[in-house]
Amino acid sequence: MSGVKFVEEFRDGAIARGLARRIADVARGLPEVRLMEVCGTHTMAIYRNSIRQLLPENIVLISGPGCPVCVTPNDYIDRAIALARRPDVTLCTFGDMVRVPGSSSSLELEKSKRADVRVVYSPLDAVDVGMQNPGRKVVFLGVGFETTAPTVAAAIELAAAKGVANFFVSSAHKVMPPALAALTADARLGLKGFILPAHVSAIIGVVPYQFLAVKHGMAGVIAGFEPLDILQGILMLVEQVAEGRAAIEVQYTRVVREEGNPRALALLERVFQPCDAEWRGLGIILGSGLAVRAEYAAHHAEANIAVEPEQTVTHPLCQCGEVLRGLIHPRECPLFGTVCTPETPVGACMVSTEGTCAACYKYGARLEEGHNHG
Ligand code: SF4
Repeated sequence: MSGVKFVEEFRDGAIARGLARRIADVARGLPEVRLMEVCGTHTMAIYRNSIRQLLPENIVLISGPGCPVCVTPNDYIDRAIALARRPDVTLCTFGDMVRVPGSSSSLELEKSKRADVRVVYSPLDAVDVGMQNPGRKVVFLGVGFETTAPTVAAAIELAAAKGVANFFVSSAHKVMPPALAALTADARLGLKGFILPAHVSAIIGVVPYQFLAVKHGMAGVIAGFEPLDILQGILMLVEQVAEGRAAIEVQYTRVVREEGNPRALALLERVFQPCDAEWRGLGIILGSGLAVRAEYAAHHAEANIAVEPEQTVTHPLCQCGEVLRGLIHPRECPLFGTVCTPETPVGACMVSTEGTCAACYKYGARLEEGHNHG
């Protein structure tokens, strides 16, 4: 792949078919090899490019909990809705979050009832909103993995430095390695390896994944998002399995460094500290969240703004938790495509552009029913 330099080459059909043939050659004679991609952008790319169709039957791709909006639990959404209902609060968030259904409402519905809910493109924009509206409490919903959390940390530092006392963050940030540990421990999944997330890895580097190989004998490859990146990542994983090896390898060398991004990591360390966090579908995972440090408690929404969220309930037939754990395919949810569609989402996985159900709904019809878990 060293000759692959330009975007169009990352999508070259002939190279893709060549990689698929090599995967089939290496996989020949192996028992079923179950690999999980834990990044919503990979999930989308796999569906969009029909990558499952290129793979032999014994290489099974399973989608994991890689969409940050999807893994944010209902009680956080209900709490955000309660915040939005306060007459003195302006709620700022990224676009996907406004459509996620809570127990009886959504931020979009609250906005239609005149709640001050604003979609921003950066947490720094929310600091601006705070500066321009000193009489209001401006709350930013901090949702995302290691990729997003540094910009939120930067916003908190900026607000502190500029004395923007009415800017707050409600942090539901999560970190990936503890979730991988939880998935590895789930024997029902029978995983042999992970396609590791590219953007997260650009921040944290390679070392935080080493435990997967060393302690659990799990293969891991950090892969980029182009179709050929993903296929080459799968080939590298299947080669490890065939050779009886387990290592963390980097396919996405043009972006990911062994040490990650030290500046972003230092920023995270200054503003956040590890905490236990609840993931939709996975429950509470120790050390998997990021809480605002005491030094920045003045900008911590929960510590400063009291709300009484409604009792959290979920639709009795919603299977988002099973989908996020990779235990069922979206089509196995009884609501998929009928009651639950991108226009009328019942669960978070149908809302986000990175959600597995949304990806399956948008691109899944192109795939053969029943083939390769796709
Ligand atoms: S189809 Fe809807 S309710 Fe069912 S798992 Fe997917 S998002 Fe959740």
